[in-house]
Amino acid sequence: MPSHRDNLKPASTLRAVVLGSGSSGNALAVCCGKGTVLLDCGFSAREADRRLRAAGIDPTSVRAVLVSHEHSDHVRGVRVFASCRRIPVYASRGTRSASGLNGQVPEMHVITPGEPVTVGSITITAFRTSHDAAEPLGFRFEGACGCALGVLTDSGTVNGEMLEALRGCDVLAIESNHDEEMLEHGPYPWFLKRRIRSAEGHLSNEAAAELVTTLASDRLTRVVGLHLSSTNNTSRLVTSSLAGALARLGHQATIEVALQETACILKP
Ligand SMILES: [Zn+2]
Ligand SMILES: [Zn+2]
Repeated sequence: MPSHRDNLKPASTLRAVVLGSGSSGNALAVCCGKGTVLLDCGFSAREADRRLRAAGIDPTSVRAVLVSHEHSDHVRGVRVFASCRRIPVYASRGTRSASGLNGQVPEMHVITPGEPVTVGSITITAFRTSHDAAEPLGFRFEGACGCALGVLTDSGTVNGEMLEALRGCDVLAIESNHDEEMLEHGPYPWFLKRRIRSAEGHLSNEAAAELVTTLASDRLTRVVGLHLSSTNNTSRLVTSSLAGALARLGHQATIEVALQETACILKP
């Protein structure tokens, strides 16, 4: 293990920021105490640095890069970012092979679904997602403060393992990729529409809203829509779909939508 949990320090609060989300690049920073974990680096290392600083996060605080899967919008800058900072990369066994990162970064660790890993004071538990990649993962992050953040993106379906892993989170960041009507009537070729809708594609607004309905516990304070399609979705549709789901439950969680070019606070 590159680092350890320090039980002598007072509990630090978990903070998290989406640095950008969408098919042109994804990165999300989770901070606790003096350490940060970067989930995906789908921007160039230089751009990731710029976005971290703009979000008020010192890039030298990043202790590890976690990779959800090998698609370029998630791994583009991982090699350079991890090499420049000499920090470890964590990914599933399948992503390690398919990404070509093994041997290209200072340290590469395999993360196994259901087996928690601790980086600084952040505990990370991976779960399997359903996507057309080698062995894609979603993640639950827990801070020393006890706060839990669930992140699920790039998944065509929801399964029991995901529901179990995301249960009781304070903040949920869930893919809300497309509006089903916009995708149906939009300009994409049929094979791409079929891929997006498939069980190994991306979650629609409707599917994301249904998932949030299932996971809306008393602890949930914030829901963030991720990985919006610029062609087949709008932030207004995502907001109204998630708001409708929460309103039907009488739930008060706030709703945010993460966009490609601007940072979005997941947890202040
Ligand atoms: Zn993606
Ligand atoms: Zn993907």
